Amino acid sequence: MTKRLNLKAYGKINLGLDVLRKREDGYHEVRMIMQTVGIYDKIELSLQEKPGITVETNLYYLPNNENNLVYRAADLLMKEFKTEGGVHINLKKFIPVSAGMAGGSSDAAAVLVGLNRMLGLGLTREQLMERGVKIGADVPYCIMRGTALSEGIGEILTRLPPVPQCQVLIAKPGISVSTKFVYGNLHADRLKKGEHPDIDGMAEAIRRKDLQGIAGRLGNVLETVTVPAYPVIQEIKDTMADYGALGSLMSGSGPTVFGLFTDKKDAERAYEELRYGKKSEIAKQVYLTDFYNVED
Ligand code: ATP
Repeated sequence: MTKRLNLKAYGKINLGLDVLRKREDGYHEVRMIMQTVGIYDKIELSLQEKPGITVETNLYYLPNNENNLVYRAADLLMKEFKTEGGVHINLKKFIPVSAGMAGGSSDAAAVLVGLNRMLGLGLTREQLMERGVKIGADVPYCIMRGTALSEGIGEILTRLPPVPQCQVLIAKPGISVSTKFVYGNLHADRLKKGEHPDIDGMAEAIRRKDLQGIAGRLGNVLETVTVPAYPVIQEIKDTMADYGALGSLMSGSGPTVFGLFTDKKDAERAYEELRYGKKSEIAKQVYLTDFYNVED
């Protein structure tokens, strides 16, 4: 039995995010185009003789108890399979936290995949995804990774072909945006037709491998709430456009913004400006990365 395992938990962006309606149970029905990017958290799992789950992270403000999603993922499998002994989880965060990049969900997904392997549980990917949704709606997608259409509350997934590679600039402003505030102020039934992103058109552009078509259809209905409330989001989008982005968009419920660039030099200049230049005032965390594609 392997004693130690190192894992990478990748973040995601939404190339498209639409909200159809609020269900009676309070969940929102969504249609999203999900895309994994090259930014990842590092997780080390170490099996221990002593029972129990211990969590250590590099960010003092993250919980290291059952409120951390990595704990919940380990607990779910270890309880179900009545595992003897315990596990220590060392989590190093690089994905911006509370940022719309599903960092916590991806960490949980990595722990499910990793423990399944280390403990020899023999669960298939689908079986892990079924368990993942109990932790969070985005966890099944984070197990799947790559490009996908996500429907229902996020758990109905359809694989899409990989998107054409390009530079992805990611910038998170130094503000916190509560997911509750964003969904609470979105009135999906009152939106005009033009305010809904073209999710089917986006899926088609991806199937055609048409990067211009993808960039031209970037759309996130949650921007109708966050952009007026937090103008800094628009300012980051505009900066990316000024530096030659094909398109830019807020990811998830924000406040992270990403921009797609075909020209590496343009992307690097935009990165420099947001990271170190005058515009560094509006961006707290800035990364230059690319798409993480999965072929299966
Ligand atoms: P989403 O894109 O799914 O909305 P997010 O990017 O908004 O996710 P996360 O960073 O995944 O948000 O989670 C943020 C919240 O979850 C914080 O309140 C944090 O304390 C809690 N949390 C629990 N476990 C983790 C984890 N492993 N990583 C980050 N946050 C975690």
